[in-house]
Amino acid sequence: MKLGLTNKEIATIVDGEILRDVNGKVDILIYDTRMITSNRAGVFFALQNKRNGHIFCQRAYDKGVRCFVVSEEVELPNDTCIIKVEDTLCALQTIAKYHRNQFSYPVLAVTGSLGKTMIKEWLYFLIKDHYKVVRSPKSYNSQLGVAISLLEMTEKHDFAIIEADISHPDEMTKLEEMISPTLGVFTGVGKNYEDNFESKKQHNAEHLKLFKHANITFALNEEYSTLRRSKINAELTEIEAWDEFRPSDSPFAKNITLALFVATFLGVSKSELLEKIKSLPKLSDRLEVFEGQNDNLIINDTYNIDIDALEQSLEYQFSSDERQKKVVVLDLSSLNTERKEQILSLVESYKPDEFFIIKDTTIPKELKELKGVSILFKGPYDSPLKELVKQFKNRKHETWVEFDLKAVKHNIDLIQAKLQPNTQVLVMVKASSYGTGDVNIPHFLQQIGVDYLGVAYTDEGTTLREKGIQLPILVMNTEQNAFDDITKFCLEPSIFDMKNLIAFREHLLKEGLSEYPIHLTFETGMNRLGFDAEDLPELLEYLRNQQEIKVKSVYSHLADADNTDSAYTENQIQQFQNIKEAVEKVFSYRVLFHILNSEGASKFGDTASFDMVRLGIGVFGYTSTAKENVLLPSMKWKTTISQIKTLKAGETVGYGRSYKVDNEIKIATLRIGYADGFRRNLSNGVGKVFINGKHCPVVGNVCMDMTMVDVSNVDCEAGDEVEIIGDHIDMETFSKHLGTIPYEVMTSINKRVARIYLR
Ligand SMILES: *Cc1c(COP(=O)(O)O)cnc(C)c1O
Repeated sequence: MKLGLTNKEIATIVDGEILRDVNGKVDILIYDTRMITSNRAGVFFALQNKRNGHIFCQRAYDKGVRCFVVSEEVELPNDTCIIKVEDTLCALQTIAKYHRNQFSYPVLAVTGSLGKTMIKEWLYFLIKDHYKVVRSPKSYNSQLGVAISLLEMTEKHDFAIIEADISHPDEMTKLEEMISPTLGVFTGVGKNYEDNFESKKQHNAEHLKLFKHANITFALNEEYSTLRRSKINAELTEIEAWDEFRPSDSPFAKNITLALFVATFLGVSKSELLEKIKSLPKLSDRLEVFEGQNDNLIINDTYNIDIDALEQSLEYQFSSDERQKKVVVLDLSSLNTERKEQILSLVESYKPDEFFIIKDTTIPKELKELKGVSILFKGPYDSPLKELVKQFKNRKHETWVEFDLKAVKHNIDLIQAKLQPNTQVLVMVKASSYGTGDVNIPHFLQQIGVDYLGVAYTDEGTTLREKGIQLPILVMNTEQNAFDDITKFCLEPSIFDMKNLIAFREHLLKEGLSEYPIHLTFETGMNRLGFDAEDLPELLEYLRNQQEIKVKSVYSHLADADNTDSAYTENQIQQFQNIKEAVEKVFSYRVLFHILNSEGASKFGDTASFDMVRLGIGVFGYTSTAKENVLLPSMKWKTTISQIKTLKAGETVGYGRSYKVDNEIKIATLRIGYADGFRRNLSNGVGKVFINGKHCPVVGNVCMDMTMVDVSNVDCEAGDEVEIIGDHIDMETFSKHLGTIPYEVMTSINKRVARIYLR
């Protein structure tokens, strides 16, 4: 960034009042004091974000800033220039707009609900050998992010790609004025429009305001009528247009097609694109998080040593309370002195408990001895850190499941957007969050702000409390002998009959507790656990005459929500409505009502969400309607090849010799077996895995710890990665092979399989 503006020019551009005039010139714009890493002259904008930026003016001064744009009174030494404006964000945006207008090269803007960052990054990758591209860092696409992105433009570039996002009506006009894009990419808004918009039409129209003055906007054919309605000058394409590459095989077919289409338009040859597409970058702003040895939490970000990405990793590490002590390990060997200093001062501003700089694969003794801390590893793509991190892995077993936490958040957001306003979200994290691991997902849910967690049994709740989860926790199935733990760990029991209700109240009396939150479960058709509607008079009478118990919520559970015939579900909802009316009459305080699970929320979220929904499988993207609702699959299961053998006619494979070789065959032995959850009924061709572009059937019987597959036609070697569930074998297909449902697949992956969480 190089602004090259005098203090006076800034005041004129933002139309501000100069409270104190001091001559000076600034080069960089600062809105966060942690960004101040060099002594280049900067102007500090005191934004009113989550925190009031005016509090940080003095710190900015201490770090050398002498020009300030403020909207409140601030006390600063006399050698500062102070410019007062109505709205500091607006002023910053005005500077960004001014800056953008200094350049006449093409500015391409990307907007829509889904896939913006992906398209931006891929398009960059496809055209970067032909243009000097400046692009938005990470997903900088908000009112502030867009301004920051535009400020990155310099005369050294000749093409800009800027990402823009909106969450409220009337936000786009500002972004359009700032960016004034010459080209556009519209990714569409999907089936769902956001909460703050009245309709999909309005949501579309708001996005398209960005392209009012653009010369050409690129989109998929399916957006034709939307673009025409908004009178946008568009070029459209279809997925089939890229038959040679068959993007339809990829879950990101639409984004890939769009990126390819725009790149062709910009003059990149088809043959070059087909070559490049093979190595499309995996989006690098993802962190791998896993439980390491010595109870350490490992945050692996050894993909690049970009300062923005580093800040994002530090933000995550320091805002999470998964471990109290924070340790940072860096490899800075590839950097020049200036960048080194920037990075060091950024890391120091977070005040890590310990800080290591690594030069090769030797691990300092102090680092090896750490226990119970979170360790962030950060280094460039080719750094020896990549190998070193592996030594911190808990399990050396080369079989693992990956959970994509971005997909988890996407799924929750998407389901929530369709619920009635103000509906709370409870996420069921029973059975170690559907087999995903004890606490990582709950911590993530706590961080992204879900309202409630639910577990099946008391022990699951106590584990969450011991690992630092503070959200309210509903326990579905409580036993009298667990009541001590319930109150000791502030868990909220579900009560399903009078006997337990009375016993729990006696426990509260003994403990001297009052107004203790509980939940009441009612039967409406599941026939599993719960009060019946006819218990109501006795139950309500009992509750009315005591102070120990406070009913926090009343709920029921759907038995048949995934059936396309919704009659049974509608009947359950009606019965629940009747129960609600009876209960509400009795209590003077507010009680929450909820009946919908994931499947129910997908189908009845707009009419029957009551006060809360209880999500489980939908969070991971595996409801029966996941595809049409654009929920994203969040889980991949991988293993590796340990050995490859060629067998001759007449030989047999594995226990029981159930496979006899007819013609010479090449087999691979995989590091996975029925003890991992790759069950024995996948034996003899029932199950398949995916290796280097090919599906490979299981040969012989699956063993406890190993499985053999046919790789006769596959180019592969020992150590290669094997997909069990992923982009090519989806959860649905795998479940079908096993003759079960995604719930059982997820929860039967053995503990010895390592869990990795991608952020
Ligand atoms: C497991 C469970 C849920 C979540 O169900 P999904 O189908 O995974 O969304 C909700 N409510 C209750 C009572 C449950 O037991």
